[in-house]
Amino acid sequence: MTIIPETATTPPRKRLFVTLMGVTCLIVVAAIFLAWWIPNRGLANIHPNLPHIVGIVMMVLSGAAILGTGLLVLTTALGKDILLTRFMRLVVIKFLLPVIEFVGRVIGLDKDRIRQSFIAMNNSLVTSQRMKVKPDRILVLLPHCIQLSDCEIKVTGNIHKCVQCGRCSIKGLVDIGRKYSVDISVATGGTLARKVIVEKRPKLVLAVACERDLTSGIKDCYPLPVIGILNERPFGPCFNTVVDVSKIDEALEQVLEK
Ligand code: SF4
Repeated sequence: MTIIPETATTPPRKRLFVTLMGVTCLIVVAAIFLAWWIPNRGLANIHPNLPHIVGIVMMVLSGAAILGTGLLVLTTALGKDILLTRFMRLVVIKFLLPVIEFVGRVIGLDKDRIRQSFIAMNNSLVTSQRMKVKPDRILVLLPHCIQLSDCEIKVTGNIHKCVQCGRCSIKGLVDIGRKYSVDISVATGGTLARKVIVEKRPKLVLAVACERDLTSGIKDCYPLPVIGILNERPFGPCFNTVVDVSKIDEALEQVLEK
């Protein structure tokens, strides 16, 4: 299968995740049908009405899978909390993502492309809840590779030590932190990121990272809402990465209580 490479600078598309969700839904419905159809004869031997009862249960389950998929598509398309958005985020993160990753692997899709799509879908579900959060309850979490590798200042622990020379994205991020009075932390890994979250107890996290780290971060943090923003890696992974600060600005504008 030919894949058009999707870089971190290309807006990640939800379409892929939605398509894979549709395929997964069909697989689930087919599996439910087979689960009913194959032991049907055996069920009739136990009681003549049992195949009908099990058939009704299977139809309800299939209907729930189809309705759930439809509701997810509608919620992300309209950007509105129609019904059970928080629950749907749970289903997407805990159930659909592993299944979709498996389906993607089977049909030869690039893992990072699926993750980009998942992050876009997650962001859409979080913003559709139209949360308004006070600045002191929002945490912007950055990976340490955002800082220029040969900068002599250590901003891990305190981003405000940056003297804003402008050679890396930290300068713009310090400006954003001051503009909105939000807390910005630089974490050197997943363990430290989790520690920062436990200490600061935010109501919403805006995280910058690569596809893999954002996906695992979103999963680990659930039910805490996380908006993921992909970094750009002009020099390869984990080295002098860059973030489009305007994307953080936009995301904050959407969620900040004013
Ligand atoms: S903007 Fe300059 S001073 Fe600040 S972290 Fe980047 S390189 Fe260091």
